[in-house]
Amino acid sequence: MNYLIAANWKMNGSKNFIESYFSSLNIKNNSEVKMLICPPDCYLDDINSIALKIILRGAQNLSTESVGAYTGEVSDQMLIDHNVEYVIVGHSERREYHNETNEIVANKFKRAIDSNIIPILCVGESLEQRQSGETFNHIREQIESVIGNDMINNSDRYVIAYEPIWAIGTGETATPEMANEVHIFINKTLNDNGLSENNNVNIIYGGSVNSNNASDLFEMSHINGALIGGASLDVNEFTKIYNIAEEINNE
Ligand code: PEP
Repeated sequence: MNYLIAANWKMNGSKNFIESYFSSLNIKNNSEVKMLICPPDCYLDDINSIALKIILRGAQNLSTESVGAYTGEVSDQMLIDHNVEYVIVGHSERREYHNETNEIVANKFKRAIDSNIIPILCVGESLEQRQSGETFNHIREQIESVIGNDMINNSDRYVIAYEPIWAIGTGETATPEMANEVHIFINKTLNDNGLSENNNVNIIYGGSVNSNNASDLFEMSHINGALIGGASLDVNEFTKIYNIAEEINNE
């Protein structure tokens, strides 16, 4: 399966930043590894006008509603108007700071699927959950409450990002073996719910990925890419990670 390397810029960036970022970002036009950039929505058009067409555009959030009096929200169709093909749902920062429950995440996931935007469902345990042995139960619940049986076999239409909360923005990464163990579990959970063995679901890892740890992570059997926060803001670092993925993808 071809890897997906996704940048989550969070609430970072500016017009100047974008200009200098894309003047240095160089990827082959025929690469099989997908590169995705998720900037703040207000910069999507700046990226549309400057970035190579091969670079995919993503959003960091979408509304559960389609239109109406929802101040501050952005709908699926508005994102599509800006060439958005992917959207992150259930990021731990949205779950924590915006009180997004599994139910809200499920509604966002469904709205994305219904409008043909590929949702990247983020799942992951807190440090306390890991220490008390609840990692697998927690992740199973996060997946089963969001991906209904009717969607499970729409397998190339969604992505799962395993993002242990304790590894996000902390400089702590799960060891490749630790991450892979959870990726295998995620794959099994999807299979238990009806997803065929031979599927196209990218299960990507996120949590302090950088150019030093990327290679060991990407070599693992069930890690098919990364969701990258901090390191994606440095274009040289992000390009290095992408090139590592490309090398391993083509092995
Ligand atoms: C993220 O927020 O999705 C993330 C993985 O961040 P970082 O790479 O900074 O840990």
